[in-house]
Formats: sequence, C-alpha cells, structure tokens
Amino acid sequence: HELPGDPRTDPIPRQVLHACYTKISPSAEVENPQLVAWSESVAELLDLDPKEFERPDFPLIFSGASLLVGGLPYAQCYGGHQFGMWAGQLGDGRAITLGELLNSKSERWELQLKGAGRTPYSRFADGLAVLRSSIREFLCSEAMHSLGIPTTRALCLVTTGKYVTRDMFYDGNPKEEPGAIVCRVAQSFLRFGSYQIHAARGKEDLGIVRALADYAIRHHFPHIENMTRSEGLSFSTGEQDESIVDLTSNKYAAWSVEVAERTASLVASWQGVGFTHGVLNTDNMSVLGLTIDYGPFGFLDAFDPSYTPNTTDLPGRRYCFANQPDIGLWNIAQFTSTLTSAELINDKEANYAMERYGTKFMDEYQAIMTRKLGLPKYNKQLISKLLNNMAVDKVDYTNFFRLLSNIKADPMIPQDELLTPLKAVLLDIGKERKESWISWVQSYIQELAASGISDEERKASMNSVNPKYVLRNYLCQSAIDAAEQGDFGEVRRVLKIMERPYDEQPGMEKYARLPPAWAYRPGVCMLSCSS
Ligand code: AMP
Ligand code: MG
Ligand code: MG
Repeated sequence: HELPGDPRTDPIPRQVLHACYTKISPSAEVENPQLVAWSESVAELLDLDPKEFERPDFPLIFSGASLLVGGLPYAQCYGGHQFGMWAGQLGDGRAITLGELLNSKSERWELQLKGAGRTPYSRFADGLAVLRSSIREFLCSEAMHSLGIPTTRALCLVTTGKYVTRDMFYDGNPKEEPGAIVCRVAQSFLRFGSYQIHAARGKEDLGIVRALADYAIRHHFPHIENMTRSEGLSFSTGEQDESIVDLTSNKYAAWSVEVAERTASLVASWQGVGFTHGVLNTDNMSVLGLTIDYGPFGFLDAFDPSYTPNTTDLPGRRYCFANQPDIGLWNIAQFTSTLTSAELINDKEANYAMERYGTKFMDEYQAIMTRKLGLPKYNKQLISKLLNNMAVDKVDYTNFFRLLSNIKADPMIPQDELLTPLKAVLLDIGKERKESWISWVQSYIQELAASGISDEERKASMNSVNPKYVLRNYLCQSAIDAAEQGDFGEVRRVLKIMERPYDEQPGMEKYARLPPAWAYRPGVCMLSCSS
C-alpha cells in the first residue's frame, strides 16, 4: 500500500491541492500496544462481538500496526479559521481513517485512528497523541453520547508502548509521555473547514466544494436530496413572507439551513449541561452537528459564564462558556459564505440560514432551561435571576440543578427552611446573599405550585435532564494519573459511571463531588490546544 518516495502516499508536509484527501497508512511506532479501554455500545453499533476485544491482535489493529482487511486508509484535507483568523490548510494531521463499516442496519460508520502517525497535514508536528489527551477524548466522547448530546464516538483506546515528547506549557520543559491512539467513530468527519479550504483556493476548486456538498447531501442528508428532487412537492416554510426562502428549489440552501439548525441545537445542548468545547475553530465544526475534537474541553464546576478551559484562549476568552452560542453563529457565517462563494446559495439564502440558527438556538435553549427547572413554561426572568445568583456565588452548575428537584411546590414552607434542599450547594454563601436566594426560591415555588405537576413527577423529569455525573476535569485527571502508572481500572470505572449520567448509582457518589483542592494547583488540569 505505501510506496516509499511516492508523493501521493508520503507524509511530507505539503499543500495538497485539488484533492479532498490523501491515501496514507498509519505509521506510529508501536511496541507491545495495550488495550486501555473500549466502549461496548460503540462495539454494538459496529456489530463487533465483545470477544473481539480479547483477541491478541486487537491492539495491533487499533494502533495501526496491522491493517484491516479491505481498509483504504486516508487523511482528509481541510482548512479553518483558528481563533477568528483564516489559517489555510490544516487537515488530518494525526488522524487516519481506516475505512468505513456497513453494519447490519445499513448504517455506514467511519473508523479513524487518532495519533497514528504523520500525514501531509501534520505541518511541524509529530502526528502522535499522548495517553493523557487520548483518555480525555475517549471518555468525553462516550460521556457526551450518554448525556444525549450528538458527538463523534470512541470505540477503543490503546497505548502504543512508545513515548512521545511534549512541551509542557506551565514550566516550558519537555516531558516524555506515553503515546496512545483512540479509534474514533462517526458517520462522517466532514467539517466546515472541509468546504472552506477548497473555496479559499479559488475559482478552479469551486467544483470540489460542489462535489463535496453533493456527497454530504446524498449520504448524510438524503431527505434533502429527495425533497428537492420531487418537483411540484410543496414544502411549507411558514407563513408567506418576503424574507422566507423556498428551500425546495435549492438543495444547498436546504442543507445550509439544516447544518445551521443542527449546530444551534448542539450548542444549546452544551449550554444545558455546562460543557465548554474550548477550541471552536471552524475546522472543529462538524457538518453533521456533532461535537468533534476533544482537546481542552471542560464541564463547569462553579458557574462562571467566562469560564474557558483552554489556556491558549486566555486572556481573550473567545471560546468561553457564555460565548459559545455567538461563536456557533460566527462559524455558520463562515460556512454559508463558503457556499455563497461557490455559488451554491445566494446571499438571501445565506442570511436565512443564519437567521434560522438564531431562532433554533433560542427555541432549544429555552426549552432545555425550562426542563432543567421543571417549569411548565419558559420564564425568562426566573432563569436569568437564577443564573445571575449562581454566577455571583459560584454555585456548582451540575449539583445545583440535580438538588433543585428536591424542592417541594409548597408555598407554606417557612422562610428559614426554604434553602434546606439546596444546602449542600449553597454552603459558602454569606448572610447578605441569603435573601437573594430565598426570594428566588419563593418565586420558583410560586411557579411550581401554579403548574399543578406533582413533586414526584417533576423530580423524575428533572433528574432525566439534569445529570448527576459529568466528566469533570479532575475525574479525567485521576484516571490519567492511574493509567500513566499502568492501572487502567479508573479509566474503565469512570467510563461506566459516565455511561449512566442521569442515574443515582448508589456507592458512586464521590464521582459527583466538587473538585478537590489538588485540582486547583498550578499545572494540574491545565489544558492547551493540541497535545
Ligand atoms: P486542533 O486545534 O486540535 O483542532 O488541531 C489543529 C490542527 O493541528 C489539525 O490540523 C490537527 O490535525 C493538527 N494537529 C494537532 N496536533 C497534532 C500533532 N500532534 N501532529 C500533527 N498534527 C497535529
Ligand atoms: Mg481539530
Ligand atoms: Mg485537536
């Protein structure tokens, strides 16, 4: 498969012109690779018998040392805006697709090894990944899926048995870290940047933008293909209005709206669980609306709208928690302008997609917050007052909403008992702040009492949307510390817990605790873009 010296298969860093991908085989050095963990539910998606994981050659296949029969490994070419600036060609610098698998339900799943060696897109970097960041990607992919959030998945995680050198950003000293490879799985890894790169290269390559759009629509948005193909079918887009665009006449316009709406729903679901992606560059935006590329992500502990887990994002905080909805729109604007420059959609259609992003985001976000509070209908004032209180008192985002379901809709509860159900998350608030919380709980109880929903019913529905367990950074870090010492038990334990985030899981309560003091020490749990 690999012809030495053949420019088509060599990993020499270069601009790959007029092409969407390069054939390239995994080349990470491996020495006695070990299986750290695997996801049973992803195995099921792929019709993979769990016994396969016990095969002695399994870690060889999933470290790229042995090739899968029938595989056609390649790396994708894409570009992107990084931190608001056009960065030119990026591409799969350390991810190599092994091929696609067609399962018994006729679903097509792409398998990709991340950290499998250099490609033409590796630029100045080594094409490798370390165990630390691979554990984070593996665990979070599966944790997000179990939270009900669209995401790329992770089948398994193997160590390569080799060490990788990384500059540690907090002391500037290089450090040797164990190498590892995650097998990521998705129906497609196409990103906004997959389209941007070809549009950016000028007129000659606009045909590639069209071909790649046709490909995505045909394979991943077949309803759009069918809808716009059937002539005479009238598809209502709402009331007759000048600003409304007829999506049946242009499949690319219908597609851009769907990408915008999927992105809006995705970002709304992140806000709901307190997830901050950390690097929302346009090359990390999936056209399927999946969470993609887990690097310096973080779940909120104490509520802080300006929280960014990414040290590279300081001090600007472009990608902080509260900015994600706006960044989603900025990214959609780049995507639609790519389609405009390829003459697939016009300006009006592009504006319409952006408008639909805004509407969809607000609808979804309001619905999510309403469900989180167990309210019968959206109450803007109540929600913003709450978030304001939480920010002032740095209240734990996850544990607060989980405990909130213990409040009884009884207006007769004496004032000094109103905060009792929330005691565990309001321990540190001063006397002067108590009033503000009591007044909020009073208005909340009023709303609940008027709703007529029973306390039990509300508690059950709130607990089905407010997770008890999220993948806090310190939980990742504990699993990483153990794994670096050769003990993979904690990675597997955390995976199991995060597979059932909405269940109580008696005995596992310590995994719902706030970060311990060690997690705040400099250098611990600090994260930067690429490792
Ligand atoms: P990210 O910020 O993680 O989205 O990465 C941006 C670009 O850098 C992508 O093209 C990655 O493939 C590439 N990249 C990140 N880490 C490495 C690495 N260790 N080796 C090669 N390419 C990398
Ligand atoms: Mg990326
Ligand atoms: Mg990355």
